Amino acid sequence: MSNSKSTIVFKWGVGIVQKATDIGVQPMVLTNKKINGLINEIAGETAISIIDYIKNRKNVSEFLIADKVKLDMQTTRNILYTLNSYNVATYVRKKDRKKGWYISYWTFNKGRVGELIDKIKDDKLEQLQQKLGREESNAGNFFMCGNGCARFDFDHATDFQFKCPECGQLLNQQDNSRTIENIKKRIAELQKETQKKK
Ligand SMILES: [Zn+2]
Repeated sequence: MSNSKSTIVFKWGVGIVQKATDIGVQPMVLTNKKINGLINEIAGETAISIIDYIKNRKNVSEFLIADKVKLDMQTTRNILYTLNSYNVATYVRKKDRKKGWYISYWTFNKGRVGELIDKIKDDKLEQLQQKLGREESNAGNFFMCGNGCARFDFDHATDFQFKCPECGQLLNQQDNSRTIENIKKRIAELQKETQKKK
């Protein structure tokens, strides 16, 4: 036992071997909950049953998938191609010798799920940070229709002479400190999730 261990260290050279966690490349633990959450987000709830079926198989015929998850061919294909557009499922096409047409055979690309989860989180974080920037630079200077039709920054409120373009109600100046707090809280939560994983 100890022998094989030292062989490995020798092979890689001491100092080169680095724990994956040190360089931040350790893949996240992909629970079913995480996988399903992502699949639902990019392709809808029905897609989860498709992934469930092909997840531990390889090159599954599109006809078999439709049959097993009890969906019509059109719906099945639409979902599969949506998944493919995110590279979460890949396929090969083969000609069916008897029938003479092409059939696609599908495989789940699990490795892509973690990347996508990260990407979606990063995008959300960026959007929130932009939103925070807008709110902060207009702090205390937002204007809201009394009927709740819309919300305007100072420049737009001036354009409309402080009257709602929808209903004509006078616009009220709004304290947006609570909005700012909420955005900050969501940013902190997202950052915490990202930290936990690394
Ligand atoms: Zn209004």
